Parts: sequence; C-alpha cells; structure tokens
Amino acid sequence: MRILTGLQPSGKLHIGNYFGAMEPAVHLQDQGEAFYFIADYHAMTTTGDAATLRGNIQDLAIDFLACGLDPEKATIFRQSDIPEVNELAWVLSTVCPMGLLERCHSYKDKVAKGFAANHALFAYPALMAADILLYDADLVPVGKDQKQHLEVTRDLAGKINDRYGEGTLVIPEAQIKEHTAVVPGLDGQKMSKSYNNTIPLTGGKKAIRKSIMRVVTDSTAVEDPKPTDGSTVIALYKLFADDEQMAQMIADHEAGGFGYGDFKQRVFDAYWEYFAEVRSKREELENNLDYVNGVIAQGAEKARQEASKVLDRVRHAVGLR
Ligand code: ATP
Ligand code: MG
Repeated sequence: MRILTGLQPSGKLHIGNYFGAMEPAVHLQDQGEAFYFIADYHAMTTTGDAATLRGNIQDLAIDFLACGLDPEKATIFRQSDIPEVNELAWVLSTVCPMGLLERCHSYKDKVAKGFAANHALFAYPALMAADILLYDADLVPVGKDQKQHLEVTRDLAGKINDRYGEGTLVIPEAQIKEHTAVVPGLDGQKMSKSYNNTIPLTGGKKAIRKSIMRVVTDSTAVEDPKPTDGSTVIALYKLFADDEQMAQMIADHEAGGFGYGDFKQRVFDAYWEYFAEVRSKREELENNLDYVNGVIAQGAEKARQEASKVLDRVRHAVGLR
C-alpha cells in the first residue's frame, strides 16, 4: 500500500494539522510505502513573500522530523523539488470541468477570508490531484476539509482512465479520522494557519498559554453549569485527555463553580505535556539543519524516481509520446 500526504508551509504548524494529518502519517509510515511532502507550490497561493515562504519551508521540514516522520521509513520531500507535478496537473486540467472547481469550499472560504481570487487558488485542487496521482497513492490521511479535494482527485483520475485507458492512474482513498476530522480554532471555526486562530504545535510556554486563554466561550457565570455540546474548550481537551480526565471535565462543567479560565488552564496543561517530546526533538533539529536539509534532498531523489515512472506512463497513454 502506498500512503501520501502533504502539508503547506503557509505558517506555523498547529494542532489541527497534527491531529488531522501528521499523527496519522506517523502511524501509517509503518503500514506501507509512505510519501510525505512539504506543499510549497500550494503555499504560494496565500504566501506572496519569498523570505517568509523560505522560512516556513525550513520550519515545516523540522516539524516533519520532530513529529516523528522517519526518513528510514518514509520518503520526505518538497513538492517543488519535483516540478514534473505541474505537467501532470496540466494533463488533469484538460479533463477538469470548471464547475468541479467552482464548487470547492476551500476556494470559496479563502476568498471569503480576503485572499486574492487568483488562478492558482482556484486551480489548487487540480495540482493537489497531481500531487497524489503522481505517486500512485492508495491512501491519503487528511482532515475533513480535504474530503472534497480528494473527491475531485478521484473524479479526475477516473476521467483520465475512462478516456485513456484503465490503469493509467491509481484511484486513491481518503483516510479521515472521525474524532480529529475538524479541530476547532480559537474562534470555534476550523483551525487554519491562514485564519489566525491557531494553537501552534510548538512555541514558548507563555505565548501558547495566552493563545489558549483566547479560546472563545460563552458568558455563563462562574457558579452556573456550563454547556458541553459544541464547546471549543471541550473539543480541544478531548484531543489530549484520557477517559477519566474527560469525565471529570464534563462533570465540572455540569456542576458549575468552575470558571472557563480554570478549564482553559487544564487544556493548556494537557497540551504542554502532550507535546513535550515534539518540542525537545524540535530544539535538537534546529541546531542540526544540515541533517534536516539532507533528508529533504535525499527524499527528492527517491520521490523523483517514482514520479518519473508514473509521468512516463501518463505521457504514453495520452499521446505525448
Ligand atoms: P491553510 O490555512 O494555509 O490552508 P491549514 O492550516 O488549513 O493551512 P493545510 O496545510 O492546508 O493546513 O493542511 C494540511 C493538513 O492538515 C491537511 O490534511 C488538512 O486536512 C489538515 N488540517 C488542517 N486544518 C485542520 C483542522 N483544523 N483539523 C483537522 N485537520 C486539519
Ligand atoms: Mg488548508
């Protein structure tokens, strides 16, 4: 089985990225041939500054390894090191109806948030389909926000196979874990790097505690019982807490007498402990950038070998050879 996923270097990695994509990726690297990449072409749809992009790419490479992706098990690479992906995106675009892209929520959400409605943002799902199809991926671990893009990918692969022959492209499946499908951000909407509502995966204790204290809650008085349904604090705590801690949290909500500050402090404490190892690995790697960049360079070589096989197959099938 071949597994593939990518994350954009569009800002500091957050706990939504971790639970939606990174943790499943770490788990799956033992289950098959894994390909994990830094989606730097994609990040250009929202990051227009070269120095920022360069820094984010370096940071994400460090995070990949700090989170436990293992270059002995997985091919870890950067999207733009395999520019052939653009050629496959072009081929896919030739079978991609405009309406398919027009219906994509992610594009509409980003434009609604004020990002420029440029062609790259619009065509993002076609490039993402190429990312996946270029490596014959069978399984793609992602958050729920990517469900629709995976459907587009399957749709485009099916259209290519119908037109140019079965087996031209492998049709992938998404893997979306129910309990971590959409991690809410500080404002209760989907946590996103580009929405300024994140709890970063790593960072200073004071700054992260401060951001967790910003989680939006209602105005129930300290002494009164607090609602648990739809509560962002509860949803976040669930990511870290065991069953007993969770039961206690719910009981304390229902009893009243505890303020939201107290509950948020519990979220912070659980968060801080949960990511202790990632933090310390990250510090180590920050002082060993040659190693990190060596991993990415080696990954590019391996990824390119696979990519060129698939692209060659596609070129023949469509009549470009
Ligand atoms: P951007 O705002 O730039 O789109 P993002 O935070 O949405 O950034 P991406 O790089 O687009 O992050 O997504 C990387 C992976 O993380 C994808 O698999 C995506 O589904 C997953 N992911 C992103 N946000 C969440 C979230 N809030 N909950 C669960 N998974 C998420
Ligand atoms: Mg996103």
